[in-house]
Amino acid sequence: MSDVLNVPEIFGSDVFNEAIMKQRLPADIYLAWKHCVTTGSQLPLDVANEIADAMKLWAIQKGATHYTHWFQPMTGITAEKHDSFIVPTGDGRVIMEFSGSELVRGEPDASSFPSGGLRATFEARGYTAWDPTSCAFVKDGSLYIPTCFFSYTGQSLDKKTPLLRSIDEVSREALRILRLFGDTQTQRVIPSVGAEQEYFLLPKDLYAQREDLRLTGRTLFGAQPPKGQELDDHYFGTIRTRVSSFMKDLDEQLWRLGILSKTKHNEGAPCQHEMAPIYTDANTACDDNQLIMEIMKKCAAKHNLVCLLHEKPFAGVNGSGKHNNWSLSTDSGKNLFSPGKTPSQNARFLVFLAAFIAGVDEYQDFLRCTVAFAGNDHRLGASEAPPAIVSIFLGEELDAIIRSIIDGTNYTEPEKSMLRIGVDVLPAIPKDTTDRNRTSPLAFTGNKFEFRMPGSSQSIAGPNIALNTIMAEELGKFADVLENASDFDSALQKLVCKALTDHQRIIFGGNGYSEEWKQEAARRGLHNLASTAEALPTYVSEKNIDLVTRHGIFTEDEFRARYTIHLESYNKIVRIEARTMMDMALHQILPAAVHYTQSLCDAIAAKKPLHLAAKAETELIARLSTASDALYDHVETLRFALAAVPKEPDTAANYYHNVVIPAMRDLRQEADTLETLTDKSYWPYPTYSDLLYY
Ligand code: ADP
Ligand code: MG
Repeated sequence: MSDVLNVPEIFGSDVFNEAIMKQRLPADIYLAWKHCVTTGSQLPLDVANEIADAMKLWAIQKGATHYTHWFQPMTGITAEKHDSFIVPTGDGRVIMEFSGSELVRGEPDASSFPSGGLRATFEARGYTAWDPTSCAFVKDGSLYIPTCFFSYTGQSLDKKTPLLRSIDEVSREALRILRLFGDTQTQRVIPSVGAEQEYFLLPKDLYAQREDLRLTGRTLFGAQPPKGQELDDHYFGTIRTRVSSFMKDLDEQLWRLGILSKTKHNEGAPCQHEMAPIYTDANTACDDNQLIMEIMKKCAAKHNLVCLLHEKPFAGVNGSGKHNNWSLSTDSGKNLFSPGKTPSQNARFLVFLAAFIAGVDEYQDFLRCTVAFAGNDHRLGASEAPPAIVSIFLGEELDAIIRSIIDGTNYTEPEKSMLRIGVDVLPAIPKDTTDRNRTSPLAFTGNKFEFRMPGSSQSIAGPNIALNTIMAEELGKFADVLENASDFDSALQKLVCKALTDHQRIIFGGNGYSEEWKQEAARRGLHNLASTAEALPTYVSEKNIDLVTRHGIFTEDEFRARYTIHLESYNKIVRIEARTMMDMALHQILPAAVHYTQSLCDAIAAKKPLHLAAKAETELIARLSTASDALYDHVETLRFALAAVPKEPDTAANYYHNVVIPAMRDLRQEADTLETLTDKSYWPYPTYSDLLYY
């Protein structure tokens, strides 16, 4: 036996995928399943029973003893409750059973998951329903069944249900456009998503010594280390042995689960890394990303490391994001954001592009809100991640084409008056321009859009729900016009030109980090929602409610419930961070400063009989005293601030943002000053140098 990993052999070996179904199910059952998945119809119980039986046999052979309905509550992470397959036979023995109804429906206790008021506490029941479009898999001795989670009254309590609704919706509207271009083949349009995941790895023992990391996932204190990122020696640098064995292990586990882990490398900050899978359909990509985050954490622990998914574990060091690459493709794999070679393909491309531009402009606030939460506030607008202003980068070539459409001038040949969409061939658009704009929140990268605002820890469901829905909306509006046009070509020309003209303000190719862009964006009337507290109220604007309800993505109640949950989660996180800071300041930082001051006093006293000057000691004592007093005052200020938080979640969010966070900043500053003054042997936790350059 060699220990060479046979990747094709292990890939997907723990997944009950289509190939396995084909192999293990009777042909008529397999076809019935396939029919349900492609048409979205309900699975008959006898079919479910047969699938459940085959799944159980397969899972038991893989070592599973339990099954779980795996779901994605509004916490943004996943939840599971495990039941064993055992059924008593009445004579003291058991057999392993799993029925179709157990596969299709579950009833976890829903009372401990956030519902944003959707489910009164007396009606704690929640239901899970199998999502047959996402594959079941075996992990840690259990058969995992991906499910949707909803209340007794049928309201969605999760992130998967609205995602599936948005996927259907964008498909429906995109098909209308494809039909207008004479495509009668395509049955479904599928949003494809590839989410690049950034993360930090730290040694477990150092992590364990910091209360802030353990309780909040980020450092709340820490003076800047002598060396930061200025040498840029980490990006794509050689990967440490400990880290590379983690990565190897991670890849293997992900491959077994059928996750297309493709790229791994070091990122900009010390201890920061990235993994990217090959893109897949949005539903699977979302499930996969949840698994990726979970397995990263578990796998790190196995290697005596801790995986930090927080957006900003360290001040002054790059944070972590999750680039969400998004596109639309047909069921036969045609990418609808690929500029084509014929006039008709190009016209189709321009329609999808114009719809995207119009949608992002009209719903910039909605998109912004899907990435608004406490952790991401440290990133967006901080000159390392995209600004909080939503804009689209298209690249020089596409910019010029769009200009020519808007201005009615011809892109290449001066004698023609304009580019006639659907008649003229577009000049070739290079797939990957070299000077990719890294400062843009939404960049066109040849055949897809890269949405760079999502944070590293968040579920990608929200951002993709928004992208799918705004696309559905604009495509639908376009289809309404074009379906009723007497002259398709001229209607198309007018439509694309008008959409681009009306929404050109959202296109920006300059430096998104600059101060000038903020001013320019304000002149253009673009939103600059710099924080969660500022952004979230726009989520439930009439326009956004109208959008999501009209497309059946959320009911108004479901949508408002999300708003409440986002607000409450923001408030809770800031509160926990503030309390952790007070705790560390009073019980660790201040005592360290006091003890060190004491030892300096002792040193002065010892020097005195020798008539030696004690200038350094005396000055240090003075500085330590000043900073200690200030630290103490800031703790008290924070304590009073926390005692006066308003009751209503929305006013509370503003209060946390405007009062509590500035008080936290002041407290940190004094603590970090004390850190630079205090003897390291007195300091209660590992410093930035210890953590980042272990
Ligand atoms: P990079 O951005 O690092 O240059 P790529 O552009 O090749 O790398 O891809 C980044 C991510 O985008 C990968 O996860 C890749 O699978 C994904 N991706 C590529 N094409 C598409 C597409 N058509 N739709 C969605 N995601 C895509
Ligand atoms: Mg990328």
